Amino acid sequence: MSIKIENLWHIYNEGTPMAITALQDISLDIQDGECIGIIGRTGSGKSTLIQHFNGLLLATQGRVSVDGVDLREKKSDRRRIRQKIGLVFQYPEYQLFEETIEKDIAFAPKKMGLTDDEVDERVREAMRMVGLDHDMYRKRSPFELSGGQMRRVAIAGVLAMNPSMLVLDEPTAGLDPEGRADILQQVQRMRDEAGITVAFVSHSMDEIAQLVDTVIVMDQGKIALHGSVREIFLQVETLQSLGLGIPQITALMHLLKQRGMGVSTEAVTVDEAKEAILSLKRGCSHV
Ligand code: ADP
Ligand code: MG
Repeated sequence: MSIKIENLWHIYNEGTPMAITALQDISLDIQDGECIGIIGRTGSGKSTLIQHFNGLLLATQGRVSVDGVDLREKKSDRRRIRQKIGLVFQYPEYQLFEETIEKDIAFAPKKMGLTDDEVDERVREAMRMVGLDHDMYRKRSPFELSGGQMRRVAIAGVLAMNPSMLVLDEPTAGLDPEGRADILQQVQRMRDEAGITVAFVSHSMDEIAQLVDTVIVMDQGKIALHGSVREIFLQVETLQSLGLGIPQITALMHLLKQRGMGVSTEAVTVDEAKEAILSLKRGCSHV
């Protein structure tokens, strides 16, 4: 699934005294198979932007096309595109409502007009992908689960539509560290197994560093920075001026360098940092 955004503006309540310009002149390409991270302060426009990916919101000005189709032009295509680009809202577990997990996950595929067998297969596969045992959980109420498990059910409900792209709005917000790690791992798995295109909104630099290929940093409705994870996290001062940090491990490497250790500060994951420190030690032992 590829998305092309050209000079996109979004104004809420346009033409009223309550008008709010949430997006200003955004241009962005997302390639098929890419995993893009979206970061930025609260109110910077992240949630507004991602709702343009599948036509849930329409451009006030500018153009969004999905696989070459202009979202404003073809109304009939928007339904298909909403199934192809699955959007997981923030705190999606609040939208669970059926009495069993199975029924909840089956809701969207049923509405798509699939046969009972096909729906059943979709439910099994979606539960497998989020790591919930089908036989153990399918008849249980989603409301008996832990927060992290409820969220996995909600994500499974979107996966059951068999999307080619998954858009997740702060999917780890409010979870404990274990729940967060779980969700990250599931998203990673969906990428590896299904080759799905992913857009991932997060507050956490550490999560972004672990998961994504490219990053955009949003600020007051604009794209302030856009590049590879490494390019973005090298810009420590700009990030700080935007009210954002850098991954903890990158911060640690900066600290080591300040303390006189000749390490590279480019590491954005623990593994890279380990490698940088080890290579330094190896360097020393030759002296
Ligand atoms: P983020 O997800 O980065 O926190 P949002 O996209 O939710 O940012 O919000 C961007 C701006 O648009 C904010 O000023 C917010 O108050 C405003 N906004 C968001 N949703 C609505 C809405 N439904 N109606 C009016 N204003 C909104
Ligand atoms: Mg938001």
